[in-house]
Formats: sequence, C-alpha cells, structure tokens
Amino acid sequence: MKKQFVVIGLGRFGTSIAKTLYSLGHEVLAVDESEETVADIVEHVTHAVQADATDETSLKALGIRNFDVAIVAIGNDMQASILVTLMVKEMGIDYVVSKAQNDLHAKVLYKTGADRVVFPEREMGVKVANNLVSSNILDYIELSEDYSIVEIQAPSEWAGKNLAEINIRAKYGVNVMAIKRNAEINISPTAVDTIEEGDTLIVVGENEDLGSLGER
Ligand code: ATP
Repeated sequence: MKKQFVVIGLGRFGTSIAKTLYSLGHEVLAVDESEETVADIVEHVTHAVQADATDETSLKALGIRNFDVAIVAIGNDMQASILVTLMVKEMGIDYVVSKAQNDLHAKVLYKTGADRVVFPEREMGVKVANNLVSSNILDYIELSEDYSIVEIQAPSEWAGKNLAEINIRAKYGVNVMAIKRNAEINISPTAVDTIEEGDTLIVVGENEDLGSLGER
C-alpha cells in the first residue's frame, strides 16, 4: 500500500530514509532548512521543500497533518528535534519516528509524542558487531532486549536432515520461521521439511541461544 511520508532533516540518515522510501514507491516530502541540501535531494523524492521545521506556520502550510508517517531526523539540534516531534504529533500524524542522540533525548522524545525513537549509529553498531562475531549470521532484527530474529546460513551438518531429526527447538531453544532455498522461500516449515546444503534459515529466539547457533 502506498503511504505518505514526511522526512524532516536531511542529514545522512534522513536522506537515506527519504530516498529509500521513494524508491520503494511511496510518496515522500523531504524538508530541510538548508536550501543546498534540498536542491541535492529534489530529484530523488516526490517533493522537497526548504523550511525551518520549528516554525509552526511553515509546517502547517506544508499540510503535514495529512501524512501517515513523519520521520524527524534532525540530529545535533536537540531542541529543534524535540519541538518538531511535539508539533507533528499534535498536528495529528499517526506514527512519528524520531532520531535520538542519547538516552535522555530518547526519553524526552517519547514523552513528547514519538511512537518510535531510533539511534541509527548505535543500532548499526550492534548489527555489525553481531555480524562480525557470528560468521553464520547474515542479518539481524532485534525484537526486544532479549529476543531477535536472525538469518543464518544452515550449518552443513544439518544438510539432508529434517527439522525433527535436527531437533532444533529442543536442542537450541529457537524456532525456524522460514527456509530460503535459491529464489524460493518456505514460510511455514514443518517437522518433515528437510534442510539442504546452502539453505538460509530465518530463526527466532533468545539472543543467547541465537548467539551460540551463530557461532557454529
Ligand atoms: P546524520 O548523522 O543523519 O548525517 P546529524 O545527526 O549530523 O545527521 P544534523 O546534520 O545536525 O544531523 O541535522 C540533519 C539535518 O537537519 C541537516 O541537514 C539540517 O540542515 C537539518 N535541520 C536542522 N534543524 C532543522 C530545522 N529546524 N528545520 C529543518 N531542518 C533542520
């Protein structure tokens, strides 16, 4: 479904989000106070506008309240980031994602109305670190502090065995959600589904269990 996004603050993070959403076919309004930054992105989004987002009148004039999602990607100016988060939420945007610099900033953003707060550098750091220590782990989504979903290369000793024979759930405490084989994906594997050499598995579980699986 096509959605309408407004991205406010076009640093590296905001720019990357805006361009990606647009390339995925969504409508994207990109806003920054720097004219130069706006000129750089204009061909990669639906609309790009130069405005100071802390100015309520300018925000209202952009019709912000009609958007489904707002991404507040203002970095260093904490005051602006908090003020803009508060205003877009009050204007009635359903889902507001704001970028935080530190834990206190995050707390204030949640209190002022952010539905989700992100720490791009920190989250990427966690991902890359996990990737480095677990050679089998291809990708990683954190569900909570304790649980994650990971994509792993199936260990070669599992090849030719089905899920019941490997006894993954009992032995490793994790669940296989999907098996990817070339272009095909089985999203509801059962006990009798067999693993083949080169398969990729999508696995959900506790981080500790997933970690030991990744180090295999
Ligand atoms: P990144 O790490 O994503 O590159 P950053 O954390 O260094 O970004 P900044 O460079 O401080 O973030 O801000 C990102 C963008 O937000 C800048 O392009 C800046 O012009 C813009 N910006 C800052 N304040 C405002 C504002 N009040 N209204 C609109 N844009 C703003």
